[in-house]
Amino acid sequence: MQCQILSIGDELLIGDTVNTNASWMARELTEIGVEVNRIYTIKDDLAGIKEIVNEALSSADVVFTTGGLGPTHDDMTKQAIAELLDSELVVHEPTLDFIKKIFKERNIPFSKSNYHQAEVIEGCEVLFNEQGTAPAMWFDHEGALLVVLPGVPYEMKHLMNHHILPRLKKKIGNKTYRASHYMLTAGIGESTLSDEIIGDLNPFLNGNDISLAYLPSPEGTRIRIRGQASTEQKLKDQMETLIGHIKKQADGFIVGEGKQIRLAEKVGESLQEVGLKIAVAESCTGGSVANSLTDIPGSSNYFKGGIIAYENEVKVNQLKVNANDLQQQGAVSKAVALQMAKGVAQQLNAHIGISTTGIAGPEGGTDKKPVGTVWIGFWSEDQHFAIRAQFTNDRLINKQRTTATALEMVRR
Ligand code: ATP
Ligand code: MG
Repeated sequence: MQCQILSIGDELLIGDTVNTNASWMARELTEIGVEVNRIYTIKDDLAGIKEIVNEALSSADVVFTTGGLGPTHDDMTKQAIAELLDSELVVHEPTLDFIKKIFKERNIPFSKSNYHQAEVIEGCEVLFNEQGTAPAMWFDHEGALLVVLPGVPYEMKHLMNHHILPRLKKKIGNKTYRASHYMLTAGIGESTLSDEIIGDLNPFLNGNDISLAYLPSPEGTRIRIRGQASTEQKLKDQMETLIGHIKKQADGFIVGEGKQIRLAEKVGESLQEVGLKIAVAESCTGGSVANSLTDIPGSSNYFKGGIIAYENEVKVNQLKVNANDLQQQGAVSKAVALQMAKGVAQQLNAHIGISTTGIAGPEGGTDKKPVGTVWIGFWSEDQHFAIRAQFTNDRLINKQRTTATALEMVRR
């Protein structure tokens, strides 16, 4: 079952409103096995709505529209669809009664334009909206389904959850079994991971209803596998074969499995396993490493604390960084990163110290140390090292990637 979502409203096209309706609907529909293959955003414009709805109905099994059902002159959806289907707008009495009741309860005068709110397109099945004034309309149109929904997100969700998704589920039946699986990888770029480490997956994908996507983020690349099959066993077999293969290929780069998995969570697990406590000295990340670590419940078991040593003076006074080294090699240097890591471990009485120092940008780069240059230090009693990384020109991305690299350094 293939579907298209048409999001209607001027506010979506001028950037005033983020189209959260379409993403929410796409997620819910995918979940029950409806394939969303197009999402359009269109203006409150009679001719435009007619054209796109018509086109969608000729190629999709199900077409959804949201928005433009209100009583004001800028809401065109009902009129457009009525014209397209050669229908009239008629007042839906139960909705009219409901609106009148709501208006009375709220002491709002009922005006003529409010009658329009109770109008529906003749020939539709009305799906009553207990959460608002605009009901949804459901049409069986020459083999395709057309579902017209209000734009207000909570009303749309209510109608989807209570009326529409259960019906679609029934229509699809439960002959198809579906599963998805997520893995988070770190310490490797998306393309190296896919081209060199994991390699060609066609032997696993061809002939099976299974797909794989690489989803990069500053924290690392997530691998998403989605499959469906006609029996539970078949689904399990094809998922397990592919997951097993990827785990073997990408061994060492996989941080963990599951949709919500976070790098800091795995860092916490490995610290707890060995019973070590950590402290952080942050310059360019400004507390972001500490923030990520403390996002994880139970972090007090292994996180000592941190010092945000942004100014050089703080690096010297609080972390005992050598002032000469700072002067000669600069704050963004191996020597300073190492001394920061050692300093914070000693000051806070931790087994491990981690440090970040870098040029986040957009200003402050030099030929030798362009924007995005970062040193990350690691210190423990028997091991200390620092790595240099070169990230981007974007300040926030540099902070995120430095944080992820520091966390990954500890996890390993
Ligand atoms: P009602 O008849 O209840 O007013 P409506 O169908 O006329 O509903 P709109 O007037 O188009 O809905 O939009 C109502 C509200 O919902 C607006 O605040 C709008 O910003 C928001 N909205 C509309 N479409 C979307 C969307 N696709 N994603 C998120 N919010 C949306
Ligand atoms: Mg609107």
